Amino acid sequence: MSSIIQLLPDHVANQIAAGEVVQRPASVVKELLENAVDAGATDIKLIIKDAGKSLVQVIDNGKGMSVTDSRLCFERHATSKIRQAEDLFSLHTKGFRGEALASIAAIAHVEMKTKQEQDELGTHIIIEGSKFVSQEPSVLPKGTSFAVKNLFFNIPARRNFLKSETVEFRHIVDEFQRVALAHPNIYFTMYHNGSEMFNLPNSNYRQRIVNVFSGKTNEKLVPIQEETEIVTIEGFVGKPEFAKKNRGEQFFFVNDRFIKSGYLHHAVMAAYEGLLPNGSQPTYFIYLNVPPNTIDINIHPTKTEIKFDDEHALYAILRSTIKHSLGQFNVAPVLDFDRDPNLDTPYQYQNKTAEYPTVQVDSTFNPFADDPSYSELAKQKPSKQFSGGSNSYKKQEVAGSNWESLYVGLKNDTSEVETFSFESEEVTASLFDEKEEEQTINRTYQIHKKYIVSPIKSGMVIMDQGRAHQRILYEQFLTNMTVQQASSQQLLFPLQMYFSNNELKLIAELKPSLENTGFVFEAFDTDSIHISGIPVNTTESEISMVLEQLLSDLQDGIPDSSFSQNDTIAKSMAKSLAVKTGTYLTEKEQENLVNNLFACKEPNVSPFQKPTFITMRVEDIDKRFAL
Ligand code: ADP
Ligand code: MG
Repeated sequence: MSSIIQLLPDHVANQIAAGEVVQRPASVVKELLENAVDAGATDIKLIIKDAGKSLVQVIDNGKGMSVTDSRLCFERHATSKIRQAEDLFSLHTKGFRGEALASIAAIAHVEMKTKQEQDELGTHIIIEGSKFVSQEPSVLPKGTSFAVKNLFFNIPARRNFLKSETVEFRHIVDEFQRVALAHPNIYFTMYHNGSEMFNLPNSNYRQRIVNVFSGKTNEKLVPIQEETEIVTIEGFVGKPEFAKKNRGEQFFFVNDRFIKSGYLHHAVMAAYEGLLPNGSQPTYFIYLNVPPNTIDINIHPTKTEIKFDDEHALYAILRSTIKHSLGQFNVAPVLDFDRDPNLDTPYQYQNKTAEYPTVQVDSTFNPFADDPSYSELAKQKPSKQFSGGSNSYKKQEVAGSNWESLYVGLKNDTSEVETFSFESEEVTASLFDEKEEEQTINRTYQIHKKYIVSPIKSGMVIMDQGRAHQRILYEQFLTNMTVQQASSQQLLFPLQMYFSNNELKLIAELKPSLENTGFVFEAFDTDSIHISGIPVNTTESEISMVLEQLLSDLQDGIPDSSFSQNDTIAKSMAKSLAVKTGTYLTEKEQENLVNNLFACKEPNVSPFQKPTFITMRVEDIDKRFAL
């Protein structure tokens, strides 16, 4: 049989390699910014068009390249940063694999201009899909400009695979921020479609963080510092009261390189133990410096994962450093570390007088009777019941027909079980109030501050309070947005809220939809917005949480059409504002929840397609008892 193995031509090999290095426009941003940093630039400009789909350009004032190097740099495994394998253990540069430029040039149109300080003239090169189109000497300033156009022009499948502009842009901003945060001594600017997104003059870590994430960040930060033989730690962690619902602002840098590490994240979380409400996430910017020979950066093509020699020691040092700072800056509570939240008085109860206990007596109960009607009786809900505080309780008309039908058959059946209270003059009058019999029909019970249980004709319904409320709010918001009219509560004093540049852009983009949920925006400043009206079912203190959650949900993937944009907003706001597990609900609130849920168009599932309630038929219960 003839031999069939061939070596792939370089341009094909490069295209394949590109798949590893360049997943999206943001990967190009990362590689070009890192090259500029490695070139010793003190001023780096990033210019983006159409979220990087049309243009990613990086201009630096670094050391530039000679005529020969400017051609060589596009070859695979061409690097000036390491010469032998041992150099990998003393790395001080971001790049070292020598494959970024070869990969990028294989799948885009690239125009490079570069000049070294000592040279008269620089070099201007155009290369398209690995093919050199032109190379000319040119009058240029010192440094390098790299323009990458029409990314994936020769791999349509990859191009089509790109997400919406908002998503791709978000990834670009992430990469830009990571490099900018790691190098506060470099002046960074970023432009998108002609407008300036970031302008970050050189400064220190703290100032850089504040410049990247709006002025409000400053007061949230607690400095951390530690120096040991294996690691030097500096940076900032967020005060617990500013913890967020999402993992937005969490950064580790090792030797000036942004990295991801679940293990170190765990160390941080351990330091915050007992300080954060369940499920919330602290902000942190942690800069670690370790001897280069104690890490291996080589384990991931995008170099965001690192292997440390002495992970366990690092974990312990990091944890205690943060714990120490949180304590020193007095943000850790002094007492009450292990307080059981179940022992807290529910907020709604704090100013109430105690209620009379009730005793239920079944006056017809005869332990010797063998009457089949007794089992019938057992199906019915308790009836005349007295409870001191709540006899003003009114039965609400049930809005949804489905719900009402569940009750059919219960209405006239209220006399078998009798309940009476302790003798008490003042209250006997209302004890047998006719109305009361009706009122107890829809009786609801909250269990474990999580579920609402209510008897229905065929048995009982158990509702998840959080999911039910999500469904209700979701439909309300969606309706408001579709008919474009929402009621809003006017605030006495407008709220001013600070956001980063691109968050502000996103909010401005969504303004019309948000207004339809009830927001009223008074003004957009360069770093903040003024809100003068908020949706009716929100409180002023919830607003920042709602907007933060919304931004994070949208950054995870915003759909292009305005219909699905509304859907995302409605879902996000419903998620933020719905009552959570662990919230005590008054009887009235429970009842409203039940009624409103069954008035929904799709009461069975939450907006996230999880069941909102389950029913248990009496037969099912009977079966359990028959075991
Ligand atoms: P790596 O960064 O891993 O070395 P790249 O493909 O990113 O590989 O770059 C190849 C080489 O091109 C670099 O080693 C460097 O010598 C040169 N180079 C790339 N970008 C720049 C730049 N902005 N300024 C000066 N030299 C650069
Ligand atoms: Mg590189």
